[in-house]
Amino acid sequence: MCDREFQNLPDIITIDGPAASGKSTIGNLIANKFGYICLDTGIMYRAVACQALRESLDISDELLISQLAERISIDILPSSNNDGRQFDVIIDGVDLTWDIRSNEVNQNVSEVSVYPRVRNAMTELQRNIAKKGKIVMIGRDIGTVVLPQADLKIYLEASAEVRAQRRYVEDLARGKKVCFGDVLESIKHRDEIDTGRAVAPLKPADDSVIVDSDQMTVYEVVERILDLIAG
Ligand code: C5P
Repeated sequence: MCDREFQNLPDIITIDGPAASGKSTIGNLIANKFGYICLDTGIMYRAVACQALRESLDISDELLISQLAERISIDILPSSNNDGRQFDVIIDGVDLTWDIRSNEVNQNVSEVSVYPRVRNAMTELQRNIAKKGKIVMIGRDIGTVVLPQADLKIYLEASAEVRAQRRYVEDLARGKKVCFGDVLESIKHRDEIDTGRAVAPLKPADDSVIVDSDQMTVYEVVERILDLIAG
């Protein structure tokens, strides 16, 4: 990364965008650069879906899923294992770091994320975590709903095909058995629900900077965001 002058660092940076748009990789790089914490809120919705599946709850039962979201305990801790994880994700005391990335969770997480009480519970937790500032928060509705007062809002875009290709390569590298067509279909399925829901749909905030990363490397996207921060 080039040296620049960073005088007025934004206290809160939000990065929203569709599935597999690189939010997490980029958010972590930006956060590390400034010693900020980085919260990927997708983890929280995944945790609710994962726990619902573990408890064999009916995903279409809004009341049951909402009650689960209101009582679930989600801890995101520094990694205790060198199996490629960035964090430990502990749900109700159990390490489910990789379980939240399963195909089954991918297939159900957007359905769970539609429920207003689930969103309210997660939004409250997210706002509490952001209170201390110096945070990069990643998600779908962070710039629009969770932290609309954020100083810098990024909306990361990329075509579904490019995102699926990136996710496919990531999954293969992790030793996961995947088929490109399934990855693409799963991404499109989530995009459709995430953009179409009534409460907090995926969309850029009016005052966000839209970065289309189709033709950009991770390095170029990070550089673009650092330019915005340097002003
Ligand atoms: O970012 P990630 O792909 O891990 O998010 C998983 C799912 O969680 C999304 O497809 C979306 O349904 C939901 N989500 C959300 N709001 C957020 C973050 C994630 O609805 N702020």
